[in-house]
Amino acid sequence: ASICSFRSEEHRGLYSLTLPERTMASHIVGYPRMGPKRELKFALESFWDGKSSAEDLKKVSADLRASIWKQMADAGIKYIPSNTFSYYDQVLDATATLGAVPARYGWTGGEIGFDTYFSMARGNATVPAMEMTKWFDTNYHFIVPELGPEVNFTYASHKAVEEYKEAKALGVETVPVLIGPVSYLLLSKPAKGVEKSFSLLSLLPKVLAIYKEVIADLKAAGASWIQFDEPTLVLDLESHKLQAFTDAYAELAPALSGLNVLVETYFADIPAEAYKTLTSLSGVTAYGFDLVRGTKTLDLIKGGFPSGKYLFAGVVDGRNIWANDLAASLGTLNGLEGIVGKDKLVVSTSCSLLHTAVDLVNETKLDDEIKSWLAFAAQKIVEVNALANALSGKKDEAFFSANAAAQASRKSSPRVTNEAVQKAAAALKGSDHRRATNVSARLDAQQKKLNLPILPTTTIGSFPQTVELRRVRREYKANKISEEEYVKAIKEEIRKVVELQEELDIDVLVHGEPERNDMVEYFGEQLSGFAFTVNGWVQSYGSRCVKPPIIYGDVSRPNPMTVFWSSVAQSFTKRPMKGMLTGPVTILNWSFVRNDQPRSETCYQIALAIKDEVEDLEKAGINVIQIDEAALREGLPLRKSEQAHYLDWAVHSFRITNVGVQDSTQIHTHMCYSNFNDIIHSIIDMDADVITIENSRSDEKLLSVFREGVKYGAGIGPGVYDIHSPRIPPTEEIADRINKMLAVLEKNILWVNPDCGLKTRKYTEVKPALTNMVAAAKLIRNEL
Ligand code: GLN
Ligand code: ZN
Repeated sequence: ASICSFRSEEHRGLYSLTLPERTMASHIVGYPRMGPKRELKFALESFWDGKSSAEDLKKVSADLRASIWKQMADAGIKYIPSNTFSYYDQVLDATATLGAVPARYGWTGGEIGFDTYFSMARGNATVPAMEMTKWFDTNYHFIVPELGPEVNFTYASHKAVEEYKEAKALGVETVPVLIGPVSYLLLSKPAKGVEKSFSLLSLLPKVLAIYKEVIADLKAAGASWIQFDEPTLVLDLESHKLQAFTDAYAELAPALSGLNVLVETYFADIPAEAYKTLTSLSGVTAYGFDLVRGTKTLDLIKGGFPSGKYLFAGVVDGRNIWANDLAASLGTLNGLEGIVGKDKLVVSTSCSLLHTAVDLVNETKLDDEIKSWLAFAAQKIVEVNALANALSGKKDEAFFSANAAAQASRKSSPRVTNEAVQKAAAALKGSDHRRATNVSARLDAQQKKLNLPILPTTTIGSFPQTVELRRVRREYKANKISEEEYVKAIKEEIRKVVELQEELDIDVLVHGEPERNDMVEYFGEQLSGFAFTVNGWVQSYGSRCVKPPIIYGDVSRPNPMTVFWSSVAQSFTKRPMKGMLTGPVTILNWSFVRNDQPRSETCYQIALAIKDEVEDLEKAGINVIQIDEAALREGLPLRKSEQAHYLDWAVHSFRITNVGVQDSTQIHTHMCYSNFNDIIHSIIDMDADVITIENSRSDEKLLSVFREGVKYGAGIGPGVYDIHSPRIPPTEEIADRINKMLAVLEKNILWVNPDCGLKTRKYTEVKPALTNMVAAAKLIRNEL
């Protein structure tokens, strides 16, 4: 298909005069699987624990699928997805479909069952799980396919066609959704032992052979549409990768003939080159775009859209919980109608609704005003359909005016706006907020006060969260124990944690975070502008879900949040006690963020709130303060062109939090990932005095940056052991790692600490592991 230019006005006029009015179509890219009350989570975990049967699990899952399909059909959605359900992950489902099971799982062929499937997902008694990684810039994680030249692809899971038939038997015609073949390969990694030069795309012909079988199966079952999700098209792909799309769909075209084929993209603006490739693919009849995150994609569409093809316009946000501004979306859709033609425009979601909460109906604790501003997946379906109806001249006036009223209330509500905060945030512009003294002079001033040994030891913050501790917090929240009892219990816990650290002879102590259930929620609950849901869960991986806070208004800090507990902790020891805060970028990235102002604006507001906390801690005599930025890297935009801007305001926000402290106050930060090499200059620009960083699974990678000559003058603590595993690292092993680091980093900047917080570990693991860590540090100190 060739790209035609804008239709002329005359043409359009004629067109709409001569064609009869049609029902406008609606489409949903994908839907959450967990269920409104996490039914799938509980069914999965009970099955894994051997408490229920495979049949039980299948029954819960079939009921969830049926209710989702029915919900969409009742709402009037025309293109309803199937095969977006998954027992674990949709990429793993594709791996199963292709029979690409790594040899170590001992699969011997035939249809892949729960045994093999869940072994790949979670590991089993003898074999660890496959690697998991983040799905683009979301908080969803997928199981990374491991492919080598040896893989013997076979059609080994018929899930797609089974789900299609299952829906059909319920009277619902669906669009089966498959991960597109090229995205599948681009998201894979070469299997262990396969040389670096191996090209994953060289597997394309073999993979396509299986896709053809799946397509034939779906056709035979009666499918008239197929959706291929190709989200990698929004990345900045090299031309040979774009060429793979052209080749793949040319190869599939004969198999696809007679079907309507939708290629769905999402999560960002699609680059112009990719747009050209996409809209020229053979065999494809429809293109889906994220028009929420991809506002520039609109210009590409206006610049030319192939005639006779469908546009699936993703105007309802799949990644947030805000009610759609229906009037604005209708305006966008009206504009698009003029370009692609009335009968070729389909109203859709920006991406799968997997990334939003499930159903607002179950929110009993949110007040009515805030609730009127929100739409979870179930409500978004209704919005999509209302927009489609409005386009075809059947506008539900009552629904639209209720929506307009809610939008207006959100704009004018005094709960959203805090003028003092806005003024303070606006005043930040124009200065880049740097501490006056450079880092080496600051470290000298700090050392005078702290008097630390060389290779100082510390931990990242949390200590094991015992069952007893969780009970105390829960009972206090439910008003079952008094504040007095609660404070007493937490103080006691802090005292024990401090004593333990003194016994272990750690140099810079922590209070252990016993009062926190979550590093973002704890702060959100004390800041204004945040709301919390009861059931607003979003799948993170497998059966794991997170419940992000909702930032709905200007953020401020009415009262100190951590000063009391940090002071309690400091009173138990003469050693330096680290104050422990979550940084603004992490709070932002792990929340549902308001969409009525730029993310940067919200981040600056949070930064100011944290700044107040930092300064209050300092006043209370806390000389070391850690500001965790665990999620800074994951907020990095997908498109390269947007990354510098993000890093700029994210790093600036971090600096704002601690620009006001004295030279002698030591600011730490912590990051939970090892792949920071690509943003090392931004990390240096954060200008923290000490950074502790996850490293234990890849010493080489991290250290290579410094070996390549990056100048790093601040303190740095690359984690010396992996806290994700129950394994206790021997002293010699830790000493060995420290020595490797010393070969690359100056001895006076190196810190010794674990990879991350100890919250998920047991004391029986933490005590010996920290004992060995301190012993290793001392061993090397003596040698230096
Ligand atoms: N201070 C936090 C803890 O130790 C940091 C957690 C994290 O980095 N995710 O638990
Ligand atoms: Zn961490």
